[in-house]
Amino acid sequence: MSKFSQYDFAGQKALIRVDFNVPLNDKYEITDDTRMRAAIPTIQKILKDGGKVILMSHLGRPKDGPTEKYSLKHIVPHLTELLGGAKVHFASDCIDATAQDAVNALQNGEVLLLENLRFYKEEEKGNEEFAGKLAALGDVYINDAFGTAHRAHASTAIIAKFFDADKKMFGLVMEGEVSSAEKVLHGAENPFTAIIGGAKVSDKILIIENLLERATDIIIGGGMAYTFMKAQGGKIGNSLCEEDRLEMANELLAKATAKGVNIHLPSDSIIADAFNEAANVSVSPSNAIPDGWMGLDIGPAASNQFSNVIRHSKTILWNGPMGVFEMAKFQAGTKAIADAVADATQHGAFSLVGGGDSVAAVNQFGYTDKVSYVSTGGGAMLEYFEGKELPGIAAVKA
Ligand code: AMP
Repeated sequence: MSKFSQYDFAGQKALIRVDFNVPLNDKYEITDDTRMRAAIPTIQKILKDGGKVILMSHLGRPKDGPTEKYSLKHIVPHLTELLGGAKVHFASDCIDATAQDAVNALQNGEVLLLENLRFYKEEEKGNEEFAGKLAALGDVYINDAFGTAHRAHASTAIIAKFFDADKKMFGLVMEGEVSSAEKVLHGAENPFTAIIGGAKVSDKILIIENLLERATDIIIGGGMAYTFMKAQGGKIGNSLCEEDRLEMANELLAKATAKGVNIHLPSDSIIADAFNEAANVSVSPSNAIPDGWMGLDIGPAASNQFSNVIRHSKTILWNGPMGVFEMAKFQAGTKAIADAVADATQHGAFSLVGGGDSVAAVNQFGYTDKVSYVSTGGGAMLEYFEGKELPGIAAVKA
């Protein structure tokens, strides 16, 4: 059992850094509450123990201190609802007398939400004095905000130094994220296939380099595949290409050969004569795309080729779509891959989907429950897989 699950929070003031950075429309209605729902089990465990929950979060990127638009007060009614009617108080400041008085008045089994941390510039600067003021509000510190774990902010990292080792820990969201990422990075069963897609090679170079040390197979799809195709002497028409990364693409392929890692590039592509749904489409070898046409999805042969590799894998990491999945005409490749990942998972593979757009694709196609784990932290997950130590994780472990 984990440190968090074993801890008895009865009578304790539990200070939790959550990620309640949810999108709001102009009526201050929450348009996607995924991040809030993710944190509920952590909060409920503490309430059930008879503890007091103090929540801190950021919302958006306020530039000029307190502003109505970025106030966390807007989310109090929905939080109350998600917690099944538990009492949720709100403090209009996250530090000093306002916050301290609210904490003093808090009863066991109740929740206090502090105002947006980023109303203070000290938060993002990682200011130690500010972190100390936040720390003074709680007996125990819990980091459950994986989405900001790659930032050394006051509430995500610096604050941890004010708590003894037995008084700081991860919440259930963080535990899930960290243990699945660790399983893939350090406990992967082979064959280990990494599926990397999306628009740009430049965004994914570091992750590919790190995975060359770990994976047996790397599948490269999406817009970034065409930079590799061109680097290998292929004709790619108007497909996406980063001219300044051609050399780098060849270097990555050479490194893979030297390390015995199989790189799989899409043999064929769905090509289009315009970047829209009304375009004419055809199928072409990915290295012989006619002028005036562009590759917007992997083709049927590539889907088969990739699916075969995936179905034989024991560990799968997926970051980035295989094509422009937002348009119906170019989503078959990404769907086929989602299907193969689901199939492999059903046959015992461990599959982790992480990073913005592949998560959106998996959700859109209804595969969320058919993979082992879907990560909530885009940037944080990418940095984790690039091999970087995340400040929010290191601080709690220290
Ligand atoms: P990323 O954020 O780097 O994972 O990229 C995701 C975006 O890449 C999505 O919006 C896709 O529509 C886009 N994308 C994927 N494949 C292609 C392609 N072949 N051409 C242009 N854009 C693509």
